[in-house]
Parts: sequence; C-alpha cells; structure tokens
Amino acid sequence: MRLSARSNITTLNGVGGKMQSNFKSLHISNVGDLIRFVPFKYRDTTDILDIKTFKELETGTFLAQIVEVKNVFTRYGKSFTTVKVADNDSKTNLTYFSQPYLTNTFQPGDWYIFDGKITIKGNRKNIYNPKYEKYVGDPNMQVTLGKIFGTYHETKGITSRQIRKLLLQIKNDIPTLIKEYIPKKILEEEELIPIEEALTQVHFPDSTKSLELARERLAFEEMLRIAIKIETQIEEQSKKTSLPITIDTTLQNKFLKSLPYKLTNDQQLCITEIFNDIEQNNPMNRLLNGDVGSGKTVVAASTILQVTQSGFSSILLAPTTVLAKQHFETLTQLLTPFKVDVELCISAEKTISDADNKLIVGTHAILFQKDLPKDLNLIIIDEQHRFGVTQREQLLNIGENTPHYLTMTATPIPRSLTEVVFGSTKVSTIKEMPTNRLDIETKYVPTKKRIDCFKWIDKKIHESDFLEQAFIIYPLIEDNDTNIKSVKTQYENLTNSYFSNLKVGLLHGKMKDKDKNKILEDFRKKKSNILISTSVIEVGIDIPDATIIVIENAERFGLAQLHQLRGRVGRGDLQSYCFIIPSENIEEREKTLERLNYFTTHESGFDVAQYDLEQRGPGEVYGVLQSGIPRFQIANLGNIELLTKARQVARKLLLEDNAKLNKISKKLFK
Ligand code: ADP
Ligand code: MG
Repeated sequence: MRLSARSNITTLNGVGGKMQSNFKSLHISNVGDLIRFVPFKYRDTTDILDIKTFKELETGTFLAQIVEVKNVFTRYGKSFTTVKVADNDSKTNLTYFSQPYLTNTFQPGDWYIFDGKITIKGNRKNIYNPKYEKYVGDPNMQVTLGKIFGTYHETKGITSRQIRKLLLQIKNDIPTLIKEYIPKKILEEEELIPIEEALTQVHFPDSTKSLELARERLAFEEMLRIAIKIETQIEEQSKKTSLPITIDTTLQNKFLKSLPYKLTNDQQLCITEIFNDIEQNNPMNRLLNGDVGSGKTVVAASTILQVTQSGFSSILLAPTTVLAKQHFETLTQLLTPFKVDVELCISAEKTISDADNKLIVGTHAILFQKDLPKDLNLIIIDEQHRFGVTQREQLLNIGENTPHYLTMTATPIPRSLTEVVFGSTKVSTIKEMPTNRLDIETKYVPTKKRIDCFKWIDKKIHESDFLEQAFIIYPLIEDNDTNIKSVKTQYENLTNSYFSNLKVGLLHGKMKDKDKNKILEDFRKKKSNILISTSVIEVGIDIPDATIIVIENAERFGLAQLHQLRGRVGRGDLQSYCFIIPSENIEEREKTLERLNYFTTHESGFDVAQYDLEQRGPGEVYGVLQSGIPRFQIANLGNIELLTKARQVARKLLLEDNAKLNKISKKLFK
C-alpha cells in the first residue's frame, strides 16, 4: 500500500498497538498528524567545538574519536560505561549509565559528535550521558547532532527522540504526502514558503533562517484557519436582514437626565456604537466588553428603551435566577418611568404574557417558552460565555428577520482573545470606571496576620453599627485531605470564634436554588452580616453595603476570578477592602507571590486578565470560553497583526472564488 497522509501511524516501522494508543494522547493517529506535530523548542548544535573549547565552555557540541570503551560493574549490581575520547590535541572521559550495549556501539577509531555538559562535583568533573551521533564526515549530512534539531512534547511511552526517528523515516516523502493548497499567487504576495517545504524544515531545519520561514508559514496557516471562520461568519451575517430601529434622541436625553449620575465617556461611546448598529437593516452583533462595575446595565437599558419606543420587544438573558431578579429590579426602576413593560421569566412553567412591545428579563427558562413575542427585535445576553452556542442560535433564528444581538461580558476579555474568539463580532469596550468610585483597597495578608484580619472585620462591622457587611470566600465546599479550606468547616470555626457576635450566612453551589436565593436575600436585607461562600457569588451580585471581601487559599484562584470576586465590593459610597490570604505552605513560592502581588497592585480588570492570560494560558483562564479558543502550535494568540493579514487573505479568497476557499477550508478543518 502506498503511504499517504491518512495512513495509520502503525504503518511506520516500529509503531505497534501500544505506541499507537500512546500517540492518541498527542492527538496523533495518522502519518499526516505526525507531520503536523511540530517541535516546541529547538537546539542548535551546528557549532561543533573541539574538546579544548568544549572544556572551557563546559557545555556544547564537540567532535571526538573513540579511544577506549569499557563497562564497569559496581558492588550494587549497577553498571556504567566509561568512554575515553580524544581529538588532535586533547582528551576526555564520558560516562553513560545503564547502557552496557554501548561497548558494541562505540568502536575505537570512529569519530562521533557529542552534545552535553560538564558536571562538577567537588573537584571532579564529569560528562554524564552526552547525546551522540556517528560523524559521517560532513556536518550537513548529519541527522541530529551537527544540526538544529527540535524537541517535541512527550507523553507516556513516547519520547521526543522516538518522534524524531519516526519523522526521519518519512522525511523524504513529505513533499508527496502533503500537497500545497494555497494559491501560488497568494504565497508570493504574502512571501510564504510552500507547505511541504515548511513541514520539512520545521522538523529538520537546514538553518535558522529556513526554520524561521517554516514557522512563519505554519503560523500563518493557523491564523488563516481562524480568519476563514471569521470572514465566513461575517459574510453570512451580512446576508441576514433585520428591522431597523429609529433612534429618538429626545427620549435618550430624557433618559440620561433621569439618571442620578452622568455617563462616562466610554459608556457614551458604547451607546453611540450600539445605536449606530441598530439603525441598520442588518442585525447588530456586538460584544459589550467591560470591567466589573463599569456600568454595562445602563448601556443595555438605553438600548432597550429605543427598541421599545420603536414598537418592538426585547429579551435580556441572565445566567442565574439571582442575577435575573437583580436585573429585573434595576431595569424596572430605570425604564418604567418611560412606560416600558418589564416581565420576569425565571421558570419554565410560568408562561409569559401575550402582550407585545415589552421587555422580558429572565434566565434560560425563556428558551423553553412556546411563544416568544412576534415583535422581538433585541436580545441581550449578560455573561455570554455561560450560554451555549446552540441556545444562542435558537434565539436568533426565530423568523424571517434576525433580532439585534448584544452580549455583555462578566469580566473584561483582553483584546488578544476577543480578536480570535469574537472575530466576527463588533466589540465596544468600557475601560473607564465611573468617577465616583473609590478604589478598593486590596491587601495581601500573610497567614500569621489572618486572625488579626478577622478581628479587624468584627470591629469594623460593629463600629459601622452593622451597616457594613463582609464576604469570606473559600475554594472548597467540604474538606478534602489537603490543607485547602472549605466553607462548611470554616463556617463552624468562625461562627464559634471570631464572629460569635455576628450573624453569619453560608452559601455554596451544591445548595438548592431556592435556598441560595434565600441566603442571598437575607444578606441583602442585612439579616446576616457576613456571608461565607464559595466562588458561586462571583457573578454579578450587587450588594452596595458589602464593603469587605476576604479570599482564603487565594492562590487557588486565577487572577481573573479574584478580580471578579473583588468586584463584589466597592459598589457603594463607602471605602471597600479586599484581603487575600494564601495557603500556609505556599508563602515561600516566589511565582505565586508575584502573581498575587500583581493582583494587589492592579485595579484594572483588563490588566489583570491580560496578565493572567500570559501566565496561565487561555484554557485555564476562560475554561467556559475554551471551545471557542483555537489551539495554536506556533502562532501566538496575541499576534493581532498576523490575524489581520490572514483575514485580508481570507477575504480575498472569499470574494475571488468560493470553490477555492472550500477546498482550502477542507484542508484546514479536516
Ligand atoms: P456591570 O458593568 O458590572 O454590570 P453595573 O451596570 O451593575 O456594572 O453598574 C454598577 C453600578 O454602577 C450600578 O450601581 C450603577 O448604577 C452604577 N453606575 C453605572 N454607571 C455609572 C456612572 N456613569 N456613574 C456612577 N455610577 C454608575
Ligand atoms: Mg452586570
């Protein structure tokens, strides 16, 4: 059978069933997958030293002749091999462990290239287990040593070296296995090398320059994949129609006058952008990207008002009943003076009224309603990433005309992510916080000061005459056998000690919705002073007199999440505090401290999210968004320039020739 990219990986010499299943965890099942599995780092061994220089540098690649090889057996049954090597003016000894067969490999008189380093123990210098490859007389003809070679991500049962050896088997076949699919003209315009050359050079680079070109081509390809998706979506959206909204500026001005504050410039700008969109007969598709507490709700409210005065209905979807109720109350207050009918829908059983020209605020229970208003023309989703794509599609495909669509983020998303994940969506950003806001004082509390912190909180609440309230957050619901604290145990401990004179509530995700709501309502009504909770309170809860939040085992949380939690306080006129307490055993760990320190010294959610993204990667930070985040092997997620270039190419392909684009898409999305 002829070898093809689709040939099973087992067609390669040396790959059996066991290795085949190990390869699965690297997402490699056929020859093409292997060819597309690229090294994550490289070592340049093209600079071949003599022994003397190697000894001076104590590390590197050197050429030497085998003089003598022998196995030494120790009293404990272990063996090692000593190899004496020399060149024209120096000599040295090498030591290999547990490889007695090397006495057959190394033949005195043969020349080898070695790669390793000198280890110093006391006054003894040793070279342990250096890499070796027989010298064939010309460095260009070497396979690994003497060349630039890659290191691959390994998995159980598969080493980087094995991967390299397998690739070597098919190195010369790559040009026949992988065929170019991007039109030559585009390759020339974008100064990209052909795919078969890129995939050969990325594994076996001839030079630093050729490696760079190979990686450029492959990074471009990864971006092109995203770009084609984005441009196709934009194309599809542009074909949809919607009913335009006529903006009533007099009404908007009246609405603004009714607010107890002045909008920030960013809020104003976002409203202008949104109004501009909904005036079109092509549906709006926009993301409102804002920090916690930046005031997204009022932006949503003014949009709803315009849609209502134009005679249409709107829906606002929230991720939880608590948030739906909160939005219902806020929006009722903001919009009833302007004659907007607001309905709440948080249970699938209760059907919505058949009145038209209204606003429905609710949870996904809305999706179970048999009949949505016929005049629906605006859908707003708060905390978008909690909803699945299909649910969204369900709402948008309800009739001949598509409703205008706005999504609001729970936490700010850095631009590097919005560009790739929300590429086909327009983005409005609120960076600026309302000016009346006092900064939240964020403090790192070392564990030895933990008790002082609790005493201070107790005093503070008493001094405020029980006006001020506090959250205390733990990572776990119940203890496990680590030293990570849980809400249940700490609830017991704290109510019996530092907070015995206060009323304390307990909240966690395993409680029934009804109980959760009651606990939160009690806290809102000040029936409790302190709420001990897991991170379930992270999303959107607005309790203005909660001025203190303590987060224990703080290093267990991502910075974006800590920022969300911090956003639970600082919502009123009083000075607010956020205390982060690490786990006991991590206090020496520099990286963790650095991360927490970044958090305590940065207020902007955009900064914090960007830092988190760089440190932990997108999957960790945006678990729920993950399905939308592409996995790049080479391209850098934040390389907006490359994405822009790829989008231009995708657009060109789209306009030029759909058949060609289909062919390319097939290749890229196989
Ligand atoms: P988020 O963007 O997190 O959803 P909200 O819309 O809940 O934020 O707003 C947080 C608080 O800030 C609310 O109490 C709101 O009334 C208030 N607010 C919104 N905009 C302004 C502003 N421009 N000036 C002062 N307060 C504002
Ligand atoms: Mg909100």
